[in-house]
Amino acid sequence: MAQLFDVYPLYDIEPVRAQGSYLWDANGTRYLDLYGGHAVISVGHTHPRYVQALTNQLNKISFYSNSVHIPQQQELADKLGATSGHSDYALFLCNSGAEANENALKLASFHNGRTKVVAFTKAFHGRTAGAVAATDNRSIVAPINYSQHVQFLPYNDVEAALTGITDETCAVIIEGIQGVGGIHVATDAFLQALRRRCDETGAVLILDGVQCGYGRSGKFFSHQFSGIGADIISMAKGMGNGFPIGGILISPKFKASYGLLGTTFGGNHLACIAAIAVLDIMNDEGLIENAIRMGDYFMDGIRQIGGYKDLRGRGLMIGIEYDFPVDALRKSLLFTHKQFTGVAGKNIIRLLPSLAIGVDEADQFLEALQKEVRQTA
Ligand code: PLP
Repeated sequence: MAQLFDVYPLYDIEPVRAQGSYLWDANGTRYLDLYGGHAVISVGHTHPRYVQALTNQLNKISFYSNSVHIPQQQELADKLGATSGHSDYALFLCNSGAEANENALKLASFHNGRTKVVAFTKAFHGRTAGAVAATDNRSIVAPINYSQHVQFLPYNDVEAALTGITDETCAVIIEGIQGVGGIHVATDAFLQALRRRCDETGAVLILDGVQCGYGRSGKFFSHQFSGIGADIISMAKGMGNGFPIGGILISPKFKASYGLLGTTFGGNHLACIAAIAVLDIMNDEGLIENAIRMGDYFMDGIRQIGGYKDLRGRGLMIGIEYDFPVDALRKSLLFTHKQFTGVAGKNIIRLLPSLAIGVDEADQFLEALQKEVRQTA
C-alpha cells in the first residue's frame, strides 16, 4: 500500500460535512470552525449560492486550457477590479498563493531586469523555490541558489527599509499583515516608506495578500488602510472559498506580451465560477463590513477576558499572544470545546474565521476561551 508522505501533523478528526462556520466529523460531532483551513473559507462552508454556481458550471464545462475564450475570466476580472478598487489593474490567474508570489517575482524581474529581492523576517510566502527563498532563505534548486538573491530586513523598521532597498533591488515582497509569522500588522509609516523607496529606486513593490487579503482585514487588501498602492498584489486562499485559485493584480505600468507568464489550470471555468460566487456573496451579504464588526466584537471580548501578553490583528485576522506555549490551550479548545483554531509560532492563537461568522459563534469561542484562561491562571 502506498503511504502518504508524512509531512503534516494530523488531528484524529475526519470532517465529512460542513455548513457555514461548522464542520461535522464521521461520528456526527459538530465543530465550530474559527480557522477556515488557513483562512480559506471566506464566505462560509457550502454556501448555497456557491454550491449552486459550481454545480451548474460542472454540468456545462469544467475545464479547457486557456487557449480558448473563457468569458468567466473577464467577469471575474471585472468584479474583482470593482470590489477591490483596482479596476485599472490587470489580472493573471493561477492556482495557489505560492504560485501567485512566484509569478509576481518573475514579472518584477522581467520588468526591471534585476534579480535581488528584499523580504522581511517572519514572512511566509509559500513553498515554491522562489517563495521558500523569500520566506526563510533556504535554497532549493542547485545550481540556482535563489536564497543568494534574497535579503531580509526587520518588519516595521523604517530605517532598515530605507537603506536596504537600493538601485539594485528588483522587488520588495511584504505581507500587509504577517499571518504565519504571528499576526504582525505593518504600520502606515512603514508601508509608506517602502512605497517611496521603491519609487526612488525602481524596485517593484509586491504586496502578498494571500492570507490578509480578500476582505479579511476589513478592507479588500490590508495595505489599503495605509493609503499606498502596490505594483503587484498576490491573492489566493479566500479567493475560491476552498476551490483552488490564486492570482496577481498587476498595475498598468507592466506591459503584457505573449509567453511572459503561463499556466495550464489557472483561470479554468470552475475556478473562475467559484471566485465569482465568492465576490457576489461578499458584496451582497456585506461580508467586509461584517469582518470589521465581528473583528471588533472578538477583540473586545478577548480584551475583557485578558490573561494574554499581546492582542494583534485587524478585522477577522486575529492573533492572541500568551507568555506560555498555546499547544495545550488549542487542544482543549478543539477536544473539549469542539472549536478549530490556528497557531502562529508557539505562543500565539491565530483566528481566521469565515467572514460571515456571527455573534453566536463568537460568543461560543469567548465562553470557551474564558473557561480555559481561568483554568490556566
Ligand atoms: N503567502 C502567504 C502570506 C501565506 O500565508 C501563504 C500560505 O499560507 C502563501 C503565500 C502560500 O500559499 P499556498 O499555500 O496557497 O501556496
